[in-house]
Amino acid sequence: MSKDGRVWLSHTGLENLQRCPRCFWLQYNKGIRQPEGIVSRLANRFDIILKNYFDSFRTIGELPPMVSGKLEGKLQNPFQEKYFVRIDDEYGFLGKLDECLINDAGEYIPVDFKTSSSDPREKETLSAYQSQIDSYIFIIAQNKMKVAGFGFLVYIYPDQSPNLHNGFPMVIHVTKITGDPQNTVKRITNAINVLESQMPSPKPDCPFCNWYEKIKVEVGEKNEDNKISLPITKEKSSSSQNKKIIENLQLDFG
Ligand code: SF4
Repeated sequence: MSKDGRVWLSHTGLENLQRCPRCFWLQYNKGIRQPEGIVSRLANRFDIILKNYFDSFRTIGELPPMVSGKLEGKLQNPFQEKYFVRIDDEYGFLGKLDECLINDAGEYIPVDFKTSSSDPREKETLSAYQSQIDSYIFIIAQNKMKVAGFGFLVYIYPDQSPNLHNGFPMVIHVTKITGDPQNTVKRITNAINVLESQMPSPKPDCPFCNWYEKIKVEVGEKNEDNKISLPITKEKSSSSQNKKIIENLQLDFG
């Protein structure tokens, strides 16, 4: 629970819902997250370096040479990284941009950096990246700023070279993605429905819950009837409340 008492959803949270509604439910309703394995922080390092690089061009009003001719507009100055959308007294949606451009019409264009381990010039945009642009446009529009209706993904991909001793070459690949904030409205509404319903079933092919199902028989606590205790959950809200949420969100688009 946050300081203001709201549950703050995010693009990452909605992606977790896509992967497994039960894990999503446990994370937001019970504060139980799946343990993190060993993950690389290399992409975070790339993000910091790229953000600092873009920052150094912000005050001179130019696009960094690395992306010059590939992006439209000017860097937003000052840059607003975080956006909050209060949906109602119980829920909110927050987002954090990597970068933002403003075009000649005064419209805002979100930018996201992607460190890629495969050649981005040869692959389709992932649905998660599409949803991310949708949600960025959603949060900007809900903060009463004009949106261009699209965003950019800036991919960074380490390239092959026989001359690595002269520096590591990087492919900079930019894709323009048209976004639809109404998709985010639908995803938020679905997420609230899941959170306010009983705990969903586990994914049948998930190794973690399968492991738990097996091990609880061996080590689980048993009650007086010699049965293993399972968590009990209850319905928290009606579907009419969720309909109201959709209507409220849709009202704010011009
Ligand atoms: S099925 Fe897997 S992903 Fe879903 S709740 Fe269980 S551990 Fe989490």
